[in-house]
Amino acid sequence: MGNIAAALQAVHRRMAAALAEAGRAPEAARLLAVSKTFPAEAVREAWAAGQRAFGESYVQEALAKIEALADLAIEWHFIGPVQSNKTRALAERFAWVHGVDRMKIAERLAAARPAGLPPLDVCVQVNIGGEASKGGVEPGAALALAREVARLPGLRLRGFMAIPPPTADFAAQRAQFAELRRLFEQARAAGLDVDTLSMGMSDDLEAAILEGATLVRVGSAIFGARSKTTNLESADDAEEHR
Ligand SMILES: *Cc1c(COP(=O)(O)O)cnc(C)c1O
Repeated sequence: MGNIAAALQAVHRRMAAALAEAGRAPEAARLLAVSKTFPAEAVREAWAAGQRAFGESYVQEALAKIEALADLAIEWHFIGPVQSNKTRALAERFAWVHGVDRMKIAERLAAARPAGLPPLDVCVQVNIGGEASKGGVEPGAALALAREVARLPGLRLRGFMAIPPPTADFAAQRAQFAELRRLFEQARAAGLDVDTLSMGMSDDLEAAILEGATLVRVGSAIFGARSKTTNLESADDAEEHR
């Protein structure tokens, strides 16, 4: 078995253990493999091992990979910050966008979603932990934004996403994820048809699953360590901040 197949198995074992500990069904959380900075061949290898949903964070890199892997029926998720000049590409080429954090972005995605495709699945990104550098709507404004997004044709609001500040403290991880879970529960209580809590990464997926994550976004535990600043990353960032 290749490295990626073995790593995928190990992640599935971690997820299964956390789901069992939480008393949740084995299929209650699914795995999004985050392939950013890794080549198309790595995605192909994960596909061969049964992985179907992949996450990307940089638009130019993602579009090249989508092109190179067009022969596979991959479910592509965009999990990076959404720049308004990139909404057309996202609406045309992705199945999901996790980083919707303002109405302007949601409207542009909705307007650009091709009529022949099913609605674009979206999550409202919430700034849990209050880091100034991170994207996401303030928790207090998230429910109102979710309500507005849910009304847009061309989009289907699936739920909420967060990238809390990393901490090695398990209780602190759980407390941050619990904040997003409470928001999710409020949304459901308010009548919003949401089914997705996108939270948890390689280092904290257990805490996320214990707090109700339905989708964990895992990169390095599957594909290996990423170099800190890749050329791809800086090139795409420069372009997107222009
Ligand atoms: C890179 C990234 C991940 C995966 O992080 P790992 O620590 O490699 O598992 C998950 N979510 C988002 C939004 C990311 O940008």
